[in-house]
Amino acid sequence: MANTGIVRFVIFASCVVLTSFGLATGFVGAQQPQNFDNVDIKVQPAQGNVYMLVGVGGSAGGNITVQVGKEGVLVVDTQYAPLSNKILAAIRTLSSGPIRYIINTHVHGDHVGGNENIRKAGSTIAGGNVSGDIQDAAQGAQIIAHDNVLKRMSAPTGAQAPIPSPAWPTSTFVGDDKKLFFNGEGVHIMHQPAAHTDGDSLVFFRRSDVISTGDIFTTTNYPVIDLAAGGTINGIIDGLNKIIDLIIPVYGQEGGTLVIPGHGRLCDLGDVINYREMATIIRDRVQDLVKKGQTLEQVKAAKPTRDYDPLYGSTTGFWTTDMFVEAVYKTLSTRKS
Ligand SMILES: [Zn+2]
Repeated sequence: MANTGIVRFVIFASCVVLTSFGLATGFVGAQQPQNFDNVDIKVQPAQGNVYMLVGVGGSAGGNITVQVGKEGVLVVDTQYAPLSNKILAAIRTLSSGPIRYIINTHVHGDHVGGNENIRKAGSTIAGGNVSGDIQDAAQGAQIIAHDNVLKRMSAPTGAQAPIPSPAWPTSTFVGDDKKLFFNGEGVHIMHQPAAHTDGDSLVFFRRSDVISTGDIFTTTNYPVIDLAAGGTINGIIDGLNKIIDLIIPVYGQEGGTLVIPGHGRLCDLGDVINYREMATIIRDRVQDLVKKGQTLEQVKAAKPTRDYDPLYGSTTGFWTTDMFVEAVYKTLSTRKS
């Protein structure tokens, strides 16, 4: 998401192939020019062994979470492929160890575009956690994601896959979660059904006490609901409630669980609560109007987001306020019928 687009476009560094996927939602029109030269990758410590890599300027994609330690490096999301060299350089300021794991929070190109490059720069641990691999475990880091991420990147036999196979997850999970133990801490990957997409995962670093949320939580805009990829407003709110459940704060002082959003700045409990309140209040307003039988145009005219627009609203770009209201309306209308 962010300024350039939730971008349904993965740009593979070598040959600038634009591959659309996710598709068919209202916000796909935004095929904006991509400018990667001006993007800087900034390293920001979260806490414990966990850091946040933030793209600043140009066509920056989603935030990257990096966990480092004696066993190597674990990376959550990989941004755009043309930024891979800058991302790897940033990772190398934190650790010279092998990149062992990549976790994808969801399928969008601004979060998985660098999968192939970052995977090739890494190496899989033999034995141990590699059981269930789909691809050759000997080549590069393991890419872990919910099975729905793989389903949306790949295609039925005979059809062309939306994303070339070297970028696909190599280890997928179905059901609620997957657990790893790496660099001395438990890493809990939790699927959140039908939220931003149908393949969202939260990644909880239990010892460092940091949650990487993907695009279920962002600080930069209204929740992005990718209808075509199975997203819903109620799934977003469920995901935000899950994040809030996991957080243990230290009131009145530094400390407690920290949250790395899909886009935007490092956050704590208060930030997530405020965002959850916004999402819930707007959902309830739209729900009331849907129950009264109002049309989408009537709901838009009622401006259910008005008091939040100064913070999250937009009339331009890939995810406008209108698109958000429409997506909320559609998922609530669908639920009723
Ligand atoms: Zn996304």
